[in-house]
Amino acid sequence: MLTIDGIVIRERSVGEQDKFIDVLTAKDGVIEISVKGAKKINSKSGSSTQLFAYSRFCVQLRKQRYYLNSAEPVCIFYNLRTDIKKLSLAAFFADIVNYTIDRQNEYGEVLRLMLNTLHYLENDKRPLEFLKSLFELRLCAELGMMPAIVGCSECGEFEPEKVVFRISDGDFCCKECCEASAEESFSNILSDKAMLHAVRHIVLTDFSKLYNFRVSERIMKNLSEYTERYLINHLGCNFRTLDFYRSL
Ligand SMILES: [Zn+2]
Repeated sequence: MLTIDGIVIRERSVGEQDKFIDVLTAKDGVIEISVKGAKKINSKSGSSTQLFAYSRFCVQLRKQRYYLNSAEPVCIFYNLRTDIKKLSLAAFFADIVNYTIDRQNEYGEVLRLMLNTLHYLENDKRPLEFLKSLFELRLCAELGMMPAIVGCSECGEFEPEKVVFRISDGDFCCKECCEASAEESFSNILSDKAMLHAVRHIVLTDFSKLYNFRVSERIMKNLSEYTERYLINHLGCNFRTLDFYRSL
């Protein structure tokens, strides 16, 4: 018998009574667990195997498949379920994780990012767009798709006043350098050094301080556009859960 801590990021019904759940873990990436009798009324494993439940799963491994023996909920993020906007944003986060994380690899930092972001989300501790941007960009960084943010890609300037963020190149340059190279691309975003500070904070700051920063409304708009397009561009995938979140 194995004990695994993780958060349910997808569930699928099988037949009348059973289901499969995909669980994001720290040490084994995303694993699939078969849950027998999940639909029975008063099923003991009910709340601990529902979507977004972070639980301690007791499982058996047979023929490379995990079977649930029992589960204890650690945190079920109940308040996510009371607000469709929050729930749909959480579903988008789960969708990206499902798309990017493979099995049998260590993803402790991704699990931590997911749990912390859902905690802030369910308790209204930060605005939704703020959490969305933070999650999108930090996840890219954790997965090795960090933007190049040390200095202007053309002249090396560390902190230009006006900054052009180049999405597909994954870097930035000063407005002057960008004008000099006559580059005007749809995928560029013009902003300033306050946005550069925010981007550097999200990709570089230690987890303990990750959520502790503020941005003005103007920078939030730039940041929001930047992180969403950066994620979509670098993953090369569109998400229906994102379309749904945007439609609300
Ligand atoms: Zn420059």
